[in-house]
Amino acid sequence: MAGLRCRARQKQGGVRLALSGLILVLVGLPGLALWGAVTMFQSGQEVDHASRLSDALQEARHAVVTEESLERKYRLEPGPEIRASHRAAGAQMVAALAKARSLATDMDVAMADDVLARHVLYLGAIDRMFDAVDAGDTAAATAIDQSEVDPAFDYVEEQVLVVAEQSRARALQHLDAFSTLQTRVVFATPIVFALGLGLVMFFGLMLVSYQKQVRRAAEREAAASIRSERRFRSLIQSAADVVLICQPTGAVTYQSPAAEAAWGYEGDALIGQSLIEMIHPEEQVAALDLLEQVRETPGGTREIELRLRDRAGAWRYVELILTNLLHEPAIEGVVATTHGIDERKAFERQLTQQAFYDSLTGLPNRALFRDRLDRALVRTGRRRGAVAVLFLDLDNFKLVNDSLGHQVGDQLLVEVARRLQTCVRSADTVARLGGDEFVLLLESLSSEADAGPVADGIAAMLATPFRLDGREIVVTASIGIAVGDAGAELADSLLRNADAAMYRAKARGKGCHAVFEPSMQTDTLARLELEAELRQALERNELRVHYQPIVPLQSGRITDVEALVRWQHPTRGLVPPIDFIPLAEETGLIVPLGLWVLEQACLQTAAWHREFPTAPPLVVSVNLSPRQFQMPDLVEEVSRVLAITGLPAACLKLEITEGVIMRDVEATIATLWRLRTLGIQLAIDDFGTGYSSLAYLRRLPLDVLKIDRSFIMGIGENAEDKAIVQAILSLAKSLGLSVTAEGIETAEQATMLSGWQCDRGQGYYFARPLDAEKTTVLLRAGCCGTADGDGLVSVLPVSEWPGPAAHVDAVRVGEACEAAV
Ligand code: C2E
Ligand code: CA
Ligand code: CA
Repeated sequence: MAGLRCRARQKQGGVRLALSGLILVLVGLPGLALWGAVTMFQSGQEVDHASRLSDALQEARHAVVTEESLERKYRLEPGPEIRASHRAAGAQMVAALAKARSLATDMDVAMADDVLARHVLYLGAIDRMFDAVDAGDTAAATAIDQSEVDPAFDYVEEQVLVVAEQSRARALQHLDAFSTLQTRVVFATPIVFALGLGLVMFFGLMLVSYQKQVRRAAEREAAASIRSERRFRSLIQSAADVVLICQPTGAVTYQSPAAEAAWGYEGDALIGQSLIEMIHPEEQVAALDLLEQVRETPGGTREIELRLRDRAGAWRYVELILTNLLHEPAIEGVVATTHGIDERKAFERQLTQQAFYDSLTGLPNRALFRDRLDRALVRTGRRRGAVAVLFLDLDNFKLVNDSLGHQVGDQLLVEVARRLQTCVRSADTVARLGGDEFVLLLESLSSEADAGPVADGIAAMLATPFRLDGREIVVTASIGIAVGDAGAELADSLLRNADAAMYRAKARGKGCHAVFEPSMQTDTLARLELEAELRQALERNELRVHYQPIVPLQSGRITDVEALVRWQHPTRGLVPPIDFIPLAEETGLIVPLGLWVLEQACLQTAAWHREFPTAPPLVVSVNLSPRQFQMPDLVEEVSRVLAITGLPAACLKLEITEGVIMRDVEATIATLWRLRTLGIQLAIDDFGTGYSSLAYLRRLPLDVLKIDRSFIMGIGENAEDKAIVQAILSLAKSLGLSVTAEGIETAEQATMLSGWQCDRGQGYYFARPLDAEKTTVLLRAGCCGTADGDGLVSVLPVSEWPGPAAHVDAVRVGEACEAAV
């Protein structure tokens, strides 16, 4: 269209050019003719003038000649008639000269005057000479003639003759020029007219051709505009975007068919309706403002994103583009083009959700919580009141996760999240920081004391068991509370303080809450310090492996030892594993630590094999943590350690907890089989504390089942524990597993378990975990004993082992050693 218009403009330019050319020629030709006529007329005038001048001068010449002949005649025969004729000739000469003077254009007027003046002198002199002639005084007449008349007359005659001759020549010249001009005009006129006619025809043809082209261009433009209008219409009709035309007030005057498909407004359901009223009330003011702006700028365009109500009453996100085409005759309105952006908005919402909400529970995440906390603190700075942060950590969640699997763990977290939301007001925020950590933000508390009851409420809410996966699960939470009442309180420090208070609650025995006190900051610091120290402990060789004997209940002879790690801390003394293994597990340090223990245990056992070549050889049990079990190269690492220490695979027993198995049953079974193929024995540790399904046990390549100490403790008094232990024993038997009872502290426990056909026992009753040196003493003695608080070991010679039925007095280790030596 633009091209067409441009070409049409060019054609119109051509038309103008041809038209001006034509006008120029039509005006120029008569002009030229006029000019020729004027020039001819002027030239004719000049010829006429010159001939009149020449005639006057010729007349003067005749008069002079007449004067001369009459003058002579008077001398010969004077008479009054001749004198009068002379006088008439003189007058004729003056008149002719005066006439010539009046016509003189180029003739010197001064010369004429001079001639006239001399003629007057001549006339004066001739009168006197005639008088002398009349008087008959010939001598005087001759004297006057010679001295006055002749010179004056000669002068006049000569001048008149010269001037007359010149004038005649000039008249002839003018006549010549005139005739030349006449000839030229005669020749030029047809040429000029032919040329003019040619130009007229040329410009005329040009005009006609250009006019034709202009007409054709206009026709093409019209056709193109019809085509483009049709195209535009069909585009509008078939476009997915809804196009509306509105009056400046917003009243709809046209709706494109897409309005039906997009929003359900059929036919012309929108005509006459107000666009503004279709817009979401929250966005109406902005839309009105926009309409106002567009109205003021013809051709102007404005854009906005807003919600429009569809026929069904649902809100649809659209991108609305308003274009002012009020000046466009075909439109005469504001065009509203709307593009549906529901999907994009949903995607944006999803992104926001991902960025600010926890995907599992749908609760706000740390980032959003931080933001809300910041805002709450600013608000609190303005008003009175306080803000509390409750940091909540589920106590036994890891156990649930490890034993029942992640899926159940996730369900539990979702349930806890749901219940937590019921414990707070709607203005408060419950967020999940990750794992089993939740935070609550309580706003506008009147005092610090208001937070405690909320924590109590949470504890009460958690006390109701959760029903998950067909089981009832009870979880408790440790809650740390930090309260801030000043706007300047930094969100980070509030969170950190609540975290520190939570650790204090955990230390107090879990399932309770603690309010932050400045002294708690040191707890957190201590934890961080411990982590740093533990990293160095490995390098500084501060870890120790102790060994606890495991004995067959029937014989009392040590057949196994369990390797248990300790930390010989430079200032704190011997740190038990419970104080650092969880931290090592959390930080991943357990991997190098566990490998080191494995290496030490294998090395030491191999050494004992050389020192005490018993049959069967001593077996060492080493604990494997969940994190270690997930190492991809675990099997390779274990066989490497066996290779370098030279310990036969059959003499290594790896202990895993139920939690390890439940993480990923299939993967665990595969790994266990690969370990089993190496020739290693496998034991399930702390049995009974987890939730492992007995069905799984059947599928695992296990050798030993270790009953947890918590059941053994109660078998003396508690009928339930007794029943459980008996049930486990018969189950193990049916699965072909050998059973070790952990934590036997009394002879009574040992006797009962022996009576129930429990294979082995481990516990303080037989021996405490001892360093390698003291274990060597025990092994040398070849029997068991108990250790007292001073770390001294009492040993019981095999020969004196009475069986588990009787309690035997122990002898001091020193004596035992002596005896053994
Ligand atoms: P566990 O594997 O169940 O080890 C047995 C724990 O029971 C040992 O505690 C032992 O000293 C204690 N015990 C044995 N007999 C009795 C008894 O008659 N009465 C009482 N009250 N306790 C008894 P310990 O050495 O403090 O170890 C605690 C836990 O730390 C271990 O429990 C084990 O889970 C973990 N652990 C120890 N060493 C390692 C290690 O090298 N690697 C890994 N991954 N975990 C280890
Ligand atoms: Ca163990
Ligand atoms: Ca155990």
